[in-house]
Amino acid sequence: MTQITEIKAFSKPLLNNLQKLGVHTTQGLLLHLPIRYLDETRVVAVRDLRQGESTQVEGVIVHAEVTYKPRKALIARLEDETGQINLRFIHFYPSQINALKEGSRVRAFGEVRQGFFGYEMVHPTCKKSVDDAQLPATLTPVYSTVAGLTQPNLRKAIGIVFKQSEAGGIMAAAFEETLPKHVYAFPELATFPSFFTCLDYIHHPPPSANLSALENKTSIEWQRLAYDELLAQQLSMRKHYVKRHNEKAPQLAPSKQLVSGLLKAMPFALTGAQQKVALEIQNDLSKPYPMQRLLQGDVGSGKTIVACMAALQAIENGWQAAFMAPTEILAEQHYNKLSMWLEPLNIEIAWLIGSQTKKQRNAAMEKIADGSAQLIIGTHAIFQDAVVFKKLGLAIIDEQHRFGVQQRLALRKKSPQQATGKGDITQSLHQLMMSATPIPRTLSMSYYADLDVSVIDELPPGRTPVVTKLISDARRDEILQRVRDACAEGQQAYWVCPLIEESEALQLATANDTYEMMKEAFPELMIGLVHGRMKAAEKQAVMATFSAGDCQLLVATTVIEVGVDVPNASLMVIEHAERMGLSQLHQLRGRVGRGAAKSTCVLLYQSKLSDLAKARLKVIYESSDGFEIAQADLNIRGPGEFLGVRQSGVPMLKIADLERDAHLLDIAKEQADALIKDYPKAVECHLSRWLGNSDELIKV
Ligand code: ADP
Ligand code: MG
Repeated sequence: MTQITEIKAFSKPLLNNLQKLGVHTTQGLLLHLPIRYLDETRVVAVRDLRQGESTQVEGVIVHAEVTYKPRKALIARLEDETGQINLRFIHFYPSQINALKEGSRVRAFGEVRQGFFGYEMVHPTCKKSVDDAQLPATLTPVYSTVAGLTQPNLRKAIGIVFKQSEAGGIMAAAFEETLPKHVYAFPELATFPSFFTCLDYIHHPPPSANLSALENKTSIEWQRLAYDELLAQQLSMRKHYVKRHNEKAPQLAPSKQLVSGLLKAMPFALTGAQQKVALEIQNDLSKPYPMQRLLQGDVGSGKTIVACMAALQAIENGWQAAFMAPTEILAEQHYNKLSMWLEPLNIEIAWLIGSQTKKQRNAAMEKIADGSAQLIIGTHAIFQDAVVFKKLGLAIIDEQHRFGVQQRLALRKKSPQQATGKGDITQSLHQLMMSATPIPRTLSMSYYADLDVSVIDELPPGRTPVVTKLISDARRDEILQRVRDACAEGQQAYWVCPLIEESEALQLATANDTYEMMKEAFPELMIGLVHGRMKAAEKQAVMATFSAGDCQLLVATTVIEVGVDVPNASLMVIEHAERMGLSQLHQLRGRVGRGAAKSTCVLLYQSKLSDLAKARLKVIYESSDGFEIAQADLNIRGPGEFLGVRQSGVPMLKIADLERDAHLLDIAKEQADALIKDYPKAVECHLSRWLGNSDELIKV
């Protein structure tokens, strides 16, 4: 691939600016695509101007002055054969006064607005006009750029690459097709023009081009590039998938005793969905290559027991399993639950969190290192370098989207070494990732294409659906009464404090205030408070009293969002619900409705809601289906937020849009694996064009 530094015509400052823009190669420059276009190909008569239109006029300046009232401005009156229009500049240079003096002939491009004295253009781009013959032949592209790099210079730079590709010039390779022809013979793709034609059209569209199709990226040229990009992402992800199948991992035979021992002692039977995913995981673990499976299941669908079964399969085969949770509260809860389940089976469990005493931690680490600990439960403290496993075979990661690439990389280093005659070979771990935030189909097909996905699509029987109420903050007193009633009946309630993203200190203050207010309002109740800044031991103590039913009302920040399981809690009040993400609200709501009692979730909102906020709360109000909510959340917020930390390890899409181009994603998915198998060279070319070095980003 040609570096831009090899292009002789590029000056040093231009190169610097391009690098600031993130452009390092000619491919990168060609794929720096316009964000919109200006039509400078024609001149419109002043008489025919329409308000709101961005267009070009040409004429003679008949009057120009710098006014000082109401504020300083340069106003030049341009006249053509059909009328006059004002050009207004609030910021201007002396050179502009000079260029716009009476008698100059000028071509001005700008948006037509209604001013005090008829139509005007504010800050139009002006050129000393030349003959009609010299109007540009194509629409003018507008690119995103950086300070110091002007649009004309950027256009010129891109033009040079096009020019040097002509007649087998040095840049010709930048435009060559990367993939075998049959890829585009696919029915939906058969009308796609060549890569060169698409780039040329998009950088330099003819005046007749359909502007809205160009700007919405629905024109066939954009669609071809969107397809190429989606395919590149798919190829990159699937390549990692295939590569993983060539790595070694401990082959774990299905459990004969422990799993059935566990299930026999359970007060419930697994749902059909739990059985199905448990079998998928069991099969994966018995393969000689590492599993990387994402287990999705709505809040309360019962992922923990499925994960526990996987851990037992590893343990029965003589390997250790690690179970990681993103917060100490959650880790503690898993620890309590799994200890209860696994004690009768004589499984040795170690417990590892950041806030342990040194003595506790050393004791745990010793058991982990000598192999006597079979299951290790904790937070990301498990990833620390100091923690050495005797024989780790399986890592279970709860709420995977909360863990970053760095942490998952650290986990990789815990892979077991296996002594062979020829020295040690590194094996890979099996990984089971869990998520209660359902991932919409298109996202899971694209950004998660390197993983296998299992879905628990059924809730355990006997759950009473949670009733959701949207209530204005003005009716707060009624809600307080509701809390009082519920607690008087022996139930428990959560009160979730508003999310204050701007300031953690403020968030803390709000939580404390709410707590004090609740104590005042309900002198008869035991009230607990948990927030993110508390010491882990304090948090755990409060959670323990709430779990035991000793405390009736728990005031909390969103720290309780994930995983907390207290079946007797049946009322959830969420303040300033409009500030929270949909999936977050769904998670919070999932904390109730876990027992037999009828549960309610009250979403309190500030009365002046924006339309967007209304639309979002409506989704939560109307749906209790995590997948539906996640899809709506994706539509509203776009994939970035959804992917969270995952995005740092996965190539992001710049052109393709998962919703708009879902049909293309289906085809890319269909084609990717065969290309990797049969055309590895072409695949490399395509990846290097579309992903450059980012394909080398860590994949964990
Ligand atoms: P999540 O998928 O949100 O992590 P949990 O694993 O915490 O859900 O399960 C939620 C609750 O449902 C727990 O109390 C768990 O013991 C219970 N549970 C799990 N599976 C079943 C089942 N098949 N039948 C009844 N209750 C179940
Ligand atoms: Mg869970």
